[in-house]
Amino acid sequence: MQEFSAGVQRYIDLGAEATRAEAARRAEMRACKFDTIAVHGLYSMEAALANQGSIIEPAYFSSAQHFESSDHMEAALAYVAPSWTYSRIANPTLHYLEETLALLEGYGFPGEVSACTTGSGMAATYMATTPFIAADPARPRPNIVASARCYGGTFMLFSRYARERGIEVRWVWNPLDLDEWRAGIDEHTRFVFGEMPSNPGLAMFDLRAVAEMAHAYQIPLIVDSTIATPALLRPMQHGADIVVHSLSKLMGSSGFAIAGALAARHDLPARSGAAELRANFAAYTKLYPLRDIGPSISPFNALMIINDLRTLRGKIDRMSVSAVQVADFLAAQPAVEQVAYPGLPSQPGHELAQRYLWLADGADDYGAPVNRYGYLMSFNVRGGAEAARRVFDGLRLIWRATDLGRVKSVAAIPTISTHQQQGEEVRRKASLPPNLIRLSIGLEHPADLMADLRQALARA
Ligand SMILES: *Cc1c(COP(=O)(O)O)cnc(C)c1O
Repeated sequence: MQEFSAGVQRYIDLGAEATRAEAARRAEMRACKFDTIAVHGLYSMEAALANQGSIIEPAYFSSAQHFESSDHMEAALAYVAPSWTYSRIANPTLHYLEETLALLEGYGFPGEVSACTTGSGMAATYMATTPFIAADPARPRPNIVASARCYGGTFMLFSRYARERGIEVRWVWNPLDLDEWRAGIDEHTRFVFGEMPSNPGLAMFDLRAVAEMAHAYQIPLIVDSTIATPALLRPMQHGADIVVHSLSKLMGSSGFAIAGALAARHDLPARSGAAELRANFAAYTKLYPLRDIGPSISPFNALMIINDLRTLRGKIDRMSVSAVQVADFLAAQPAVEQVAYPGLPSQPGHELAQRYLWLADGADDYGAPVNRYGYLMSFNVRGGAEAARRVFDGLRLIWRATDLGRVKSVAAIPTISTHQQQGEEVRRKASLPPNLIRLSIGLEHPADLMADLRQALARA
């Protein structure tokens, strides 16, 4: 143990008291319902009194924190008293967002969960995965096992790990096939990665079964749960160890910010890495790798996300109800070959979607738990790439953008946008043909969306 002067010790003691008060507040909020947590997070009346009484979490745009004295500075920089020091490392506004995310992602999960925000969803995936691929002389031939039905940026990142760091990437081409996962995982595997429902293919996998396979080798299962959000799926309840999010999507539904986060359960199964990494991965990431690499989120962006999160559950419920109507409508159109939406019984992963995707606290609204399948779908236009482009170009209300999870409906053609750089072979194996349009349903009235799609499909 490091020795501190009596002056520094005073700040350590004050800090311990603040940490205890915050733990009590956290316990109080953990007993609340999902919406109450989303609206309030950890920001309390007591915290407001230290912020001019502001009932909204204040944005601290200051790059750095002023210290009362050298003793205060020493305690803060030795990481022995809670403080925020410098906004690359921490910031009070980021802290409120992280605490809300940890509470939402841990909703209904009996263990402890912590979260760390990042400047984008890709930064979250990077921060969640790189610590596990560090060189280890005892384990010289590292591999990772990942679903190929994942976000285009994630596919490119893992391909970069292969190219630049010599990591063997064992892609799971059909994540519904448990044998494919099982065949990839061995004693040299550093982590297992899955995304569900996936963007853009809406692929599912059996989370619980894959978590068990990873845990048999004492390695973590990392899940990108961006599309579902904690309002529909909390992967840690089913055995996942780390969850990554792009907060730029539905969790930041207004579209005012690029942001990301990782949430992790405490006491990770991991055979390598520092003891602190395993004890509390999110706190470790924040204090060490994130500090050194620097992909922190701006306090302004954090505040935008805090604001959007308050209404997350109601939005995803409404959007999911609209999406079912739009998916049924599309499936009935002669110009549409097929529709991929987890809520359609014809969907290969439908049974898994029914098992895993539930509206948080749905029983309180509807008298019994309800499945909700989200706002994202994709459909294939009959007549190939050219017909798909004509339909896409004909949209008048639905925006053309590489974006999703917005209050505004948005469409994209993945082969010419998000998945342009992967190459034909990969797109074919990942089931992304050029006539596929990805559609993200917003909060408009579904009748207006269907009218727009009807007139656009007439151009096929
Ligand atoms: C958008 C997205 C990402 C990347 O997030 P950014 O915030 O754009 O960096 C990762 N995963 C999924 C599923 C996404 O949709």
